[in-house]
Amino acid sequence: MAVARPVDQLFTYEAPEELGDRIVPGAVVAVPFGRSTARGIVIGPSGPPPAGIAGKRIRSVLPEEPLLTEELLRLFAWVSRYYGCPLGEAIASSVPLGKSTGRPHVVAKPAVSIDVLRGQVEARGARAPAQARILAQLIGAAGGVSRAALLSTARARGGALSALVGAGLVILEAEEEPAPCRDPDEIERPQALLPAQAAAVAAICEAIDSRAFRPFLLFGVTGSGKTEVYLQAMAHAAAQGGQGLVLLPEIALTPQTYRRFQARFPGTVLVHSLLPDRERVRNLLLAKRGRAAVVIGARSAVFAPFANLRLIVVDEEHESSFKQENPPRCHARDVAVYRAREAGIPVVLGSATPSLESYHNAQQGRYRMLRLPSRATPRGTPAVRVVDVSRARSGASSVSGELADITANVLRTGRQAIYFLNRRGFAPVVKCVRCGYVFLCAQCSVGLTHHQRGELLLCHTCGTAVPRPAACPQCGAGLIKLLGAGTERIVDELRRRFPSARVGRLDRDIASSRESLLGALRDFAEGRTDIIVGTQMIAKGHDFPEVTLVGIICADSSLYMADFRAAERTFQLIHQVAGRAGRGEEPGTVVIQTFSPENKVIGLAVSGDYEHFAAQELALRAPLRYPPFGRLLRIVVQGAREDAVAAAAGACAAALEGAPCRVLGPAPCPIAKVRRRMRHHLVVKAQGPAEIQEALRRLKRVKCARGAAIAWDVDPIGFF
Ligand SMILES: [Zn+2]
Ligand SMILES: [Zn+2]
Repeated sequence: MAVARPVDQLFTYEAPEELGDRIVPGAVVAVPFGRSTARGIVIGPSGPPPAGIAGKRIRSVLPEEPLLTEELLRLFAWVSRYYGCPLGEAIASSVPLGKSTGRPHVVAKPAVSIDVLRGQVEARGARAPAQARILAQLIGAAGGVSRAALLSTARARGGALSALVGAGLVILEAEEEPAPCRDPDEIERPQALLPAQAAAVAAICEAIDSRAFRPFLLFGVTGSGKTEVYLQAMAHAAAQGGQGLVLLPEIALTPQTYRRFQARFPGTVLVHSLLPDRERVRNLLLAKRGRAAVVIGARSAVFAPFANLRLIVVDEEHESSFKQENPPRCHARDVAVYRAREAGIPVVLGSATPSLESYHNAQQGRYRMLRLPSRATPRGTPAVRVVDVSRARSGASSVSGELADITANVLRTGRQAIYFLNRRGFAPVVKCVRCGYVFLCAQCSVGLTHHQRGELLLCHTCGTAVPRPAACPQCGAGLIKLLGAGTERIVDELRRRFPSARVGRLDRDIASSRESLLGALRDFAEGRTDIIVGTQMIAKGHDFPEVTLVGIICADSSLYMADFRAAERTFQLIHQVAGRAGRGEEPGTVVIQTFSPENKVIGLAVSGDYEHFAAQELALRAPLRYPPFGRLLRIVVQGAREDAVAAAAGACAAALEGAPCRVLGPAPCPIAKVRRRMRHHLVVKAQGPAEIQEALRRLKRVKCARGAAIAWDVDPIGFF
């Protein structure tokens, strides 16, 4: 039994006889744990407990149908091992355990004969009258009654029913919903394919038929029709009664993709964290019962249960949002590849700018490369202009004269423009003019960003907000300057420069709810706004046919970060944002403002030459043994007291002495304090996964002093 707590150990419990046949692998149960009750996940039978130790008993089985299959339990066992995360914690943070599909769909049925029911009504009559009333209602209702109706006629609460379920007298079942069906005439027909698309579809279909693990890298330029390849490969699997899984990085941002699958496969369901639990669980159960042809979801959908999974697709596989930030800190793309390997099915990783890990795997022949070199609907490539802003005087507008001129033209012709800046708020630096004091978060070692709304200074790390002070806390001067630009300031400048233009904004402040986010996107897509200023949210797969200008305000913003992937990320972002220009009939223009126009990465991103960039970047990483030429493990130690944190980080370093790896650090993290907790980190560089496992084994033995907590991240992608 794995317990849904961060303890790295399995436990043995005794199964009461009356629960016997419901204690199956994957079942979720309530067990006594310490002084409280915990959720447990049944892994499998164990031997008898050691002599003299009385095994604790399972209290009850949760009534909901388990979402864990034996295949998923094996997958989680690997995740737990590989990422060094306790099994119960890994499962509990990835699967909605014990969440019901909602009352209307649950039916209660007697689990015992009518005679036993009668006896129990009598036996419980005085002691538990509500339970007795429920049982009385179930006499003569062998087919079951709706849970909600049962509770109201028996004047009982859910707790009484749960007790009866726990005692094995009643079972709750999710009611079958009618299978999704549609008039065959309404189902969208496949589109005609270009030769490269057809070759890709054929290769994937052949792999589906082979019933063997086959990894593919679908390397297709923006607009080359990758989705049509997924759709037709999926149709091949569905024609054999198979199911498919499609992982997307920003599911909430891309309703179009869901609609395209839904139009071909009526049995397509969505699984992502913004869905209400009820709906998410219902969709997962449809997948488990084989009634959903396709599951489309964000990273957590990689753990969806299937009856007959035949194909996995990971679209935009290079996206960092596939990596989970909390335990088990797994990367959904890598879990998907492992799952496909174990299931013996093909997996397709798609991207216009593949991660260097996947690209390297393809070059080494571990993945098969499928190329889509041209756009599905031919269009001219956009004209690219690089504007050197390094000589702009300080305090000048963030929108260069050249960008403004082109924008004016776009507005005159009634077209649309996208401005990209990966920084929300109004101004990222708030500074005293007299003494140079920079406003920092009291909880974290980061500067505060000025936001127009409510005139607040906001910490983007912990969310703390303080009103904008009238005077400098250090010297008392009343001259406080807002330096630099975020999306709000760009909107402000555009409104002043083009008073008649309708300017919209898309960033996390706007997108606090899915509705407002989709609303902002819809306004732009339907031409109610002329210019949209957005963070990287705007870079994801939207199709805006009227956009003829993309302005990148600061191409360097991610280039000089202390991270070996800075160049890769900059290339991907510029390439992706630039791909939004000229998706209609006109080729369009991309304006790239940069402080370092001579930088090679910027130059390659401008030319869009991914393979040249990849070759250059891989050549830089190889001698340093950075991924994909080696593996990394990051250890972060946090705590309120700096000395305890430093001591624990030192203990980690000592534990790794003599291990087959290189240890960088310990050192304070780039963001040395978050929410008043001091942070130190170490980065372990190793040859391969076996060496990382050895490092994890050693780290698990480190005794952590009071006041410090050690966490690790296998294959990290963030280093703050
Ligand atoms: Zn001052
Ligand atoms: Zn903060």
